[in-house]
Amino acid sequence: MQPPRLFLSPPHMSGREQTYIAEAFESNYIAPLGPMVEKFEASIRTYTHTPHALALSSATAAIHLALRVLGVGAGDIVLTSSFTFIGSVAPILYQNAIPYFLDSEGRSWNLNPDLLEQAIAQAPKKPKALILTHLYGQSADLERIIHICDTHGIPLIEDAAESLGASYAGRETGTFGRFGVYSFNGNKILTTSGGGMLVSSDKELIDKARFYSTQARDDAPHYEHTDFGYNYRMSNILAAIGVAQMEVLQERISKRQQIFQWYRDLLGSVEEITLMPELPQSRGNRWLTTLTFERTDPEAVRLALEASNIESRPLWKPMHLQPLFQSSLHLADGTSQSLFQTGLCLPSGTQMGYEEVERVSTLLKKALA
Ligand SMILES: *Cc1c(COP(=O)(O)O)cnc(C)c1O
Repeated sequence: MQPPRLFLSPPHMSGREQTYIAEAFESNYIAPLGPMVEKFEASIRTYTHTPHALALSSATAAIHLALRVLGVGAGDIVLTSSFTFIGSVAPILYQNAIPYFLDSEGRSWNLNPDLLEQAIAQAPKKPKALILTHLYGQSADLERIIHICDTHGIPLIEDAAESLGASYAGRETGTFGRFGVYSFNGNKILTTSGGGMLVSSDKELIDKARFYSTQARDDAPHYEHTDFGYNYRMSNILAAIGVAQMEVLQERISKRQQIFQWYRDLLGSVEEITLMPELPQSRGNRWLTTLTFERTDPEAVRLALEASNIESRPLWKPMHLQPLFQSSLHLADGTSQSLFQTGLCLPSGTQMGYEEVERVSTLLKKALA
């Protein structure tokens, strides 16, 4: 008999979720907002040492609000990582703005600061913002990127959807920019089944985002509107799951790092394989263990694992190569394209034990060219 399917990154409940959900039911705060939302926001503030946090329905919604609050509108240029997930960049289209995609650097697989400088110099007009993704739980070169953004007065939005708990120079990713964004989608390091968080050290910015997240209601006893917003707030029930999940964040990070270590022990010396690199100042949460192959077709490995009921997945397909963005502005040198063509994400769920990591590694080695 085959063992049960091994998923890439399934939800991992702490066991306390039901208790907090029951509390929310007893208080009858079923509707959006309520004490669990406040608790969840407080736990993120404490963990990331950020003064302000706003719980939302998704990270995509959080990025959208960040753009809206920064005044990004029709025809504005927004610089962004190309090697990322669509949720990172779709909000640029929501605002009828123009994405300008930037390729990765090999050292971090994240945005290449040289291309950022080049794009700012070449852009037909001054970009209104930069959306920077910290991919697979690993920080981009924040020191240089912050310096470039500061020099040119371009506000930074950090897409830390995958990198909650990862740090750069000892500081949490998501806390360097004007805004930081975390995701609690089903496959992330923590999950509320779906949800996001917007953080900032600027109270005024978060207050504005909160206003837009609840239909832009003016201060009046009736419903008064001078502007329009969205229905983007997180429900109190989902926040109850988030409160329980935050209690085990440190444990989950340690386990993901342990899983990465196991893979490294088992695969690190195989010449055909290169594991995702890490910048010296960066401490990744190792959300997913990812690697590239020298000659082997990753699709052949994926199918070999699939035959044993193990889920793996190609790396993100860069945005500038998506049919949707065929004629987009971009600066690319082939780095992310090559990563996409040669890379694979391995099962990295925190319920995995050493034996499962060993089983995946053995099957993977057998599938090598
Ligand atoms: C998951 C993810 C998002 C979107 O998060 P949602 O909460 O699902 O909207 C955005 N960016 C990156 C890099 C992600 O991995």
